[in-house]
Amino acid sequence: MKTQLQALLGAVLLTALMAVAADEKKQPKVGYTDTPLIPGQKWRVHDADRPQPKVAKPEASPTLGAKPPKDAVVLFDGTDLAQWAGGKWKVENGYMEINKTGGVSTKEPLGSMQLHLEFASPKEVKGDSQGRGNSGVIIMGKYEVQVLDSYENVTYADGQCASLYGQYPPDVNVSLPPGEWQTYDIEFHAPQFSGDKLEKPARITVKHNGVVVHNDREILGAVSHRGLPKYAPHAAKLPLQLQDHGNPVRYRNIWAVPLAN
Ligand code: MG
Repeated sequence: MKTQLQALLGAVLLTALMAVAADEKKQPKVGYTDTPLIPGQKWRVHDADRPQPKVAKPEASPTLGAKPPKDAVVLFDGTDLAQWAGGKWKVENGYMEINKTGGVSTKEPLGSMQLHLEFASPKEVKGDSQGRGNSGVIIMGKYEVQVLDSYENVTYADGQCASLYGQYPPDVNVSLPPGEWQTYDIEFHAPQFSGDKLEKPARITVKHNGVVVHNDREILGAVSHRGLPKYAPHAAKLPLQLQDHGNPVRYRNIWAVPLAN
């Protein structure tokens, strides 16, 4: 027969085991608790407590291989970096690959536009959180749509793949596995300034792998790490940048259709 002490010890052990199991199930928290509050939101920049978007795993992007319309500016057709300045990225097999030579910027300045591009996270998974497949599509060199391997890789919500970095997570995480080609189809409306004054903030719609993840969202300002986004007056057109964050992310089939405003 069990003594009272044995029963008590059993209960204590069971409770401890349940606590360990619950802990293992808990998602690790990544992010910050000491950063400023994002204006108009209840979250801090890179808030560790901001909920992660729901995960949906599409089969493949329906816009893979989308052909540029006749009036498009073809920025990369798989052959060379003639349209780009900056880093000397590796070009092979129809794609360009980041190689730690620095970010690249289009020679042609671009403002409001529709943009199509394809990217793939490194097939060999290395690092975690912001250290895995990090790059970025930095429109006008100021407004970043994050590129990250967010396939089963937890990071702060406003820094995951397809986030408006430091401002908004995507509405849904539709990231494909490392090595698979993914798409961004972006409609961007540049901010408008009169003198030093912001007349109209930038707006953006982003489709990631064919799924709308930002629907005509107002951009809060230029990208910043751990800081608040801010606007400063700039030209109506500026080079589009792709970020070299040291991870061998690949890009291909990049084209833009300029919009009036
Ligand atoms: Mg980035």
